[in-house]
Amino acid sequence: MKYCDYCSLEVKIAGFKMNYKGSIKIFCCEGCKAIYTLFGDTHIVKNEEHDFAAKLMNR
Ligand SMILES: [Zn+2]
Repeated sequence: MKYCDYCSLEVKIAGFKMNYKGSIKIFCCEGCKAIYTLFGDTHIVKNEEHDFAAKLMNR
């Protein structure tokens, strides 16, 4: 089982991943991936942040 590198939720759909500073990061959704791209590992957060990411992408 894998967990989102941004919000720590379980990753159910593979495919949201990227290479960040030489290591592969995986995400649960496009929103988490987008925000991690913006803030990187300086902005590690809790599950509530996932909702923020989801809202951002669904607007
Ligand atoms: Zn996530």
